[in-house]
Amino acid sequence: MLTLSDGILFSFQISAPHNYLWGFCGVSEITDSEYMALAVQAAQKGNGHTWTNPMVGAVIVKQQHVLAVGYHHRFGEAHAEIDALNQLASSADARGATMYVTLEPCSHFGKTPPCAKRLVSVGLRRVVIGQIDPNPLVAGKGIAILRTAGIAVEILATTQGLNPAYNFFYQHQRPQVTLKYAMSLDGKINAAQKHAVISPDQRLTEIASNCGQRIRL
Ligand SMILES: [Zn+2]
Repeated sequence: MLTLSDGILFSFQISAPHNYLWGFCGVSEITDSEYMALAVQAAQKGNGHTWTNPMVGAVIVKQQHVLAVGYHHRFGEAHAEIDALNQLASSADARGATMYVTLEPCSHFGKTPPCAKRLVSVGLRRVVIGQIDPNPLVAGKGIAILRTAGIAVEILATTQGLNPAYNFFYQHQRPQVTLKYAMSLDGKINAAQKHAVISPDQRLTEIASNCGQRIRL
């Protein structure tokens, strides 16, 4: 892909599917929020495959160039930060770079080693985080590891909407459940001792429609 708009922003994709190099011919600098939006976009590629982990995306930027974009592909596989580092020809390329990651890097051993320690080991200069992890196993501990190692950490608090069910679970100690059901106009889903009957009558559909509801018959 190649788009060029008056020298403002161009991007191109090279052989590896998730290996992007972005160049920026500056009229104005790309903001932290814009890089984070790119990380959110990457995170969403994992939609439906990461549970019970959240969707997470990560972008590595150095001197206004996007060196790598990664995301958590599937539960049990590499976290987004590691996936982004794996896109680099050498992890030495990350030295002095900034990572934008939609969720605080983990600090604990789960199915994979802690990402925060890996970010320290590759010599990142700065980490911009979209959301502090509500999971008490992390919850600030990842940030502490980074800051203790001298990495500048900024928290944008802009990506909470990416994983509402994950956040809800830790905020309320119960799962977020979405229930979809058919209900008669008088508020019933069945009658005692009887089978529910949903009429294919067109009139019923019209009534429901007039009430701002849709019934699938
Ligand atoms: Zn991690």
